[in-house]
Amino acid sequence: LENPKSNRDEIEERCAELILSDEQLREVCQRLLVEINRGLNKDTNKEATVKCFPTYVRELPNGEECGKFLALDLGGTNFRVLLIDLGPHVFHMESKIFAVPQSVMLGPGTGLFDHIAECLATFMHENQVDVSPLPLGFTFSFPCSQEGLTKARLATWTKGFKCSGVEGEDVVKLLQEAIARRGDIKIDVMAVLNDTTGTLMACAWKNPACRIGLILGTGINACYVERLENVQLWDGDHDDPKQVVINTELGAFGDNGTLEFIRTEYDRTIDQHSLNPGRQLFEKMISGMYMGEVTRLVLAQLTREGLLFDGMGPETLFEPGQFFTKYVSEIESDKKGEYTCCRQVLEELGYDDASDEDCANVRFICEAVSRRAAHIAAAAVACLLNKMGQKHVTVAVDGSLYRFHPHFHDLMVEKIRQLINPGLTFDLMLSEDGSGRGAALVAAVAVRIG
Ligand code: ADP
Repeated sequence: LENPKSNRDEIEERCAELILSDEQLREVCQRLLVEINRGLNKDTNKEATVKCFPTYVRELPNGEECGKFLALDLGGTNFRVLLIDLGPHVFHMESKIFAVPQSVMLGPGTGLFDHIAECLATFMHENQVDVSPLPLGFTFSFPCSQEGLTKARLATWTKGFKCSGVEGEDVVKLLQEAIARRGDIKIDVMAVLNDTTGTLMACAWKNPACRIGLILGTGINACYVERLENVQLWDGDHDDPKQVVINTELGAFGDNGTLEFIRTEYDRTIDQHSLNPGRQLFEKMISGMYMGEVTRLVLAQLTREGLLFDGMGPETLFEPGQFFTKYVSEIESDKKGEYTCCRQVLEELGYDDASDEDCANVRFICEAVSRRAAHIAAAAVACLLNKMGQKHVTVAVDGSLYRFHPHFHDLMVEKIRQLINPGLTFDLMLSEDGSGRGAALVAAVAVRIG
């Protein structure tokens, strides 16, 4: 008979590559700083993997923005239309979620934007919107090179989208053309932004120390407020405020090989089977779209090696995409030594008689994968905090991974503390629905400035 303790030792040994030392994380920080500077530098930007797109968002909200705004939010699992009524320190909101069918996600771009315009028209009709034209903020959370507050060329699709005829095009123009094709609604697109910028803006509305926006959802990305003198690519004016929000697109960190020193066979398998092989390698180690799958690959491998589930395990464990990231959250929300949620998840996967050892091992593996994700996300935040060098910075965070994983926040805070330069302080603040409220706020600030 096998000795379960020796199984555990072997499992820990097999998972050692997922546990990153502070030294490795400092190296991640340093390499990211190199990549960010390459993105900001005009001579190296073209080949840089971390693009550091200037967003043209210069002013942060001051809490006095008011009026009615439409917001469109496209960039992940849901597509939403929102009507936002900003008032003095309050906001009111109607919103509706629309599905984006797989056929539209993978079909021609005109189909996607016609679908969006149709949803907009339905929403405006249902809510009897009386302002015409209505100012709109468009949250489009894919890597875009911006040429102005209302001009954004899609660099490349990510997160499961693959519509033809959109890469390289201005998505605001495509949206306006689709609206014009219908002819039944009047809308002024005031701003196009990314969910990271929205998250930053929504938090900055109440908290003036907020200088970083971070998304940990389907994807991972961050933006931060940079001094204009550090943005060689800046082609706008140099009036006050001499700053601009930079959308780092750090999900692509590692696409030039700089992360090979920490990537594992699991990361390589995920990448090979993805829609965008070779791209978004940092994202694939962390974000909600992939973290469950990394966990599944470890579980499946260790089961095959006979270290888990007596080598048998549920069949679903061997099917791509069947182990959701939320399972990791659920399994880790059990009290230490209890396995209620863990058993529930395993039952959902079709495995009814997990032993306590199996549950403990499954939890250990989930923890290894999620700690790794939280720690490398922490390294990215620490990199930005060190680069900015401001005494205190609030980091606005949104996304289901951060929101629902029971330990992600604490793991990140602990690790960021260990990685930042002496004298710096920070806090991580949940900024709920930044992609909705943030779009309205960017549009509102644009209207205020004129
Ligand atoms: P998006 O980033 O697409 O705007 P979300 O922030 O809701 O939307 O992120 C969706 C991602 O979050 C999905 O990839 C999903 O796997 C992950 N997710 C959903 N629920 C949870 C959860 N309870 N714990 C961890 N991750 C989750």
